[in-house]
Amino acid sequence: MSRIAKVESYILTVPRDEPYLGALRTGEEPNRRGYFVRKGNKTVYPTVDRSVLVRVETEDGVVGWGETYGIVAPKATTAIVEDLLAEFVIGRDPFDASEIHDDLYNLMRVRGYGGGFYLDALGAVDIALWDASGRTVGKPIYELLGGRKQEKVPGYVSGLPKRTLEERAAFAKEWQDRGFDKFKFAAPVADEGIVREIEELREVLGSEASISCDMHWAHTPDSAIAAIKEMEPYGLWFAEAPIATEDVKGLGKVAHLVDTPIGAGEEWRTLYEARLRYDANAVHIVQPEMGHTGITEFVRISKVAHERGIQILPHATIGSGIFLAASLQASFALEGIIGHEYQHSIVERNHNLITKGIGCSDGLYFLSDTGGLGIEPTEEMISRLERQHA
Ligand code: MG
Repeated sequence: MSRIAKVESYILTVPRDEPYLGALRTGEEPNRRGYFVRKGNKTVYPTVDRSVLVRVETEDGVVGWGETYGIVAPKATTAIVEDLLAEFVIGRDPFDASEIHDDLYNLMRVRGYGGGFYLDALGAVDIALWDASGRTVGKPIYELLGGRKQEKVPGYVSGLPKRTLEERAAFAKEWQDRGFDKFKFAAPVADEGIVREIEELREVLGSEASISCDMHWAHTPDSAIAAIKEMEPYGLWFAEAPIATEDVKGLGKVAHLVDTPIGAGEEWRTLYEARLRYDANAVHIVQPEMGHTGITEFVRISKVAHERGIQILPHATIGSGIFLAASLQASFALEGIIGHEYQHSIVERNHNLITKGIGCSDGLYFLSDTGGLGIEPTEEMISRLERQHA
């Protein structure tokens, strides 16, 4: 057995020509720290792409990489990794990743740190340990998780970052011509309203395409029900995050009173949070986000979902490709996966950051079966990494 000898964390920053979700609207000017707030969802974003990476190394020199959110205040997460978690991981066997995950969770449980930046840090460490385990034995992570259960994982096109509705519909059509037939648009940047948006997309994409709406937690239960019912005549695949994440009972009400499946889960980090919604029959499609959950909790959230007849459609966010690779490794090993989000604006732009091995073409994801995550950071990525602590 080769134990973990080193744990380090880094901030990765990648400049963007245009912010995530497309051009800024009036009143969305960045502040001095480079943050701006989208008026449509009251959420803060940076003008650059940023994530936090964790690198572990075993006594034998095997390296594992993990990644989590670094969108805002990334130093909070790197400090948790280096100041707190690292010393509790050093000396452990990476094959005990799930046990290590639970031990680290327990360290802060009574203080109420069961989420947020603490769990993001834990998620990145967890992915790095799984990667190191896979590399140690030369097997992909899906093998360590019990083998491949999915032949195909379809990608759905997420976000249509164009200024006008006409341009967004034409852009979706371009992706359809490239072999994709599942789409999601974002309510905060549907300037003419979500009903006009789906009407136009349906018109352009035809009756066979799957079209969903990310409602960005913006509604009350009653207004969500009304909005979803207005979109239903145009054929809505699922309605994502219709109301505030805290209102579990309200989400249950929405799920009960509309015909469209409800998708949720990108902001959860643990099975505890997922279970609250499963128990309230509030979600038909769970969307776990690997960057928040790490592999250990991602698998737990997904397995319990599958047992309960809930479909699994993993989320994908701003990152280098490390946590996307982890998400695909887990997705191919799980039952009940119906697809995976495809953030074309991130994956295509960041292709120089990781070695080839994962991607999405003709509407289907593929992954590498080399050891661990199946990819690793390129020289270009390494040159962009900044370490804050030592
Ligand atoms: Mg979303």
